[in-house]
Amino acid sequence: NKPIHVIGAGLAGCEAAYQIIRYGIPVILHEMRPVKSDEAHKTADFAELVCSNSLRANNLENAVGLLKEEMRRLDSLIMQQADKHQIPAGGALAVDREGFAQGITEIIKNHPLITVVYEEVTDLQQLEGYVVVASGPLTSAVLAENIKKLVEADYFHFFDAAAPIVTAESLNYEKVYRASRYDKGDADYLNCPFETKEEYLAFWEALRTAELAPVKEFEKEVFFEACMPIEEMARRGEDTMRFGPLKPVGLVDQRTGKQAYAVVQLRQDNAAASLYNLVGFQTHLKWPEQKRVFGMIPGLENAEFVRYGVMHKNSYINSPKLLNDKFNFKAMPRFYFAGQMTGVEGYVESAASGLMAGIHTARAYLELPDITFPKETAHGALAHYISNPEIRDFQPMNVNFGLLPSLGKKIRNKKEKNALIAERSLNALQDVLQIIK
Ligand code: FAD
Repeated sequence: NKPIHVIGAGLAGCEAAYQIIRYGIPVILHEMRPVKSDEAHKTADFAELVCSNSLRANNLENAVGLLKEEMRRLDSLIMQQADKHQIPAGGALAVDREGFAQGITEIIKNHPLITVVYEEVTDLQQLEGYVVVASGPLTSAVLAENIKKLVEADYFHFFDAAAPIVTAESLNYEKVYRASRYDKGDADYLNCPFETKEEYLAFWEALRTAELAPVKEFEKEVFFEACMPIEEMARRGEDTMRFGPLKPVGLVDQRTGKQAYAVVQLRQDNAAASLYNLVGFQTHLKWPEQKRVFGMIPGLENAEFVRYGVMHKNSYINSPKLLNDKFNFKAMPRFYFAGQMTGVEGYVESAASGLMAGIHTARAYLELPDITFPKETAHGALAHYISNPEIRDFQPMNVNFGLLPSLGKKIRNKKEKNALIAERSLNALQDVLQIIK
């Protein structure tokens, strides 16, 4: 039995490998860590979450909640482990990042059909048979060059950033208080209130004038809106942060009954609740500047930073031109692509694309009939988005209800409308489940 090669043991690669072995096909999984690493990954674990530990909203009225529910029904490994290692985060699904990654690593490494090869793949063409490329947004430079040659001008970069993490014991609890927005969940966030406008403006001024780490010429001004560095947000206007991550509404301090002028939220980062990340504080500031400026946040005066925010290159291909909705490279059908590299954006979306690419590759290998994920499902909507040739200015995209066909009737209440769309999606998924189970 010839194996299928999967490149990259990240979120997409692990999920793709897991789906392939469920068809009884052997997999060779190539992972370059720990032999070689990039600046974002810190461990040798598979499916490491490089920034936030949140897999975002968990309810069906939210598109990413729907995507996760579909993944559960499709027997996703990533969701199985995410649910197992869940930690409190209001309405979101946050995970203990170590437990999550180690759980996935154990299952993948110990599976008799999977052989893990620790090496940097440099040339796709040298691998025989079917190949799933899931080397992620930080694909190593040599492999990136190799893929670039395959796809020619249809290879892009943009820049992405990670938020700092502080220790819980170093926070000043005379200022910091616990609450979830609008009292949702069990007051899972720690909140740092700017009580006055003056205090906030001093921070805003320091942030927008702080010193940045050097950026290469061609990297300048290239920001992806959904992951914009906090200093860039500050530069866009005095109140931009107050309408974004520093929004104070719904975050009343129970001790005073008051709402602050602006609030920085800290999200629990590990199961022991000893680490917290600064929500929305992806940044490109120099590290000493992070200590100085973020130390002006009320409660963070003496904060110990266990990880500073960083900014990274993010690579993806022009999928609408190159791939079909099976994540299959049209020019050379033995190659499949998965993960962030295909232009889906986010942990969950990357894993979901790996799930689809894994199923499609396995079925092609076994010469089983193709499956099409219906456009009404969150999976199908993503597959359609990345392969829709009508899309001109292709940008990485999080899953959202705008990608799914409309209901064809007007419903004013957004929550109600989304719930109906989700119900339709889960019904449509039945067709796929009947074929693959
Ligand atoms: P990865 O999880 O990165 O997996 C790719 C794997 O391939 C890695 O293990 C890598 O070591 C390996 N690899 C690379 N090149 C080679 C090679 N030549 N040979 C062998 N192995 C190789 N999404 C969110 O939802 N929330 C966030 O907070 C978030 N923060 C991010 C922060 C940063 C700095 C970046 C870069 C991205 C972030 N993303 C975030 C986006 C995205 O969801 C993640 O990058 C996600 O991990 C992508 O999954 P993936 O499987 O495509 O890639």
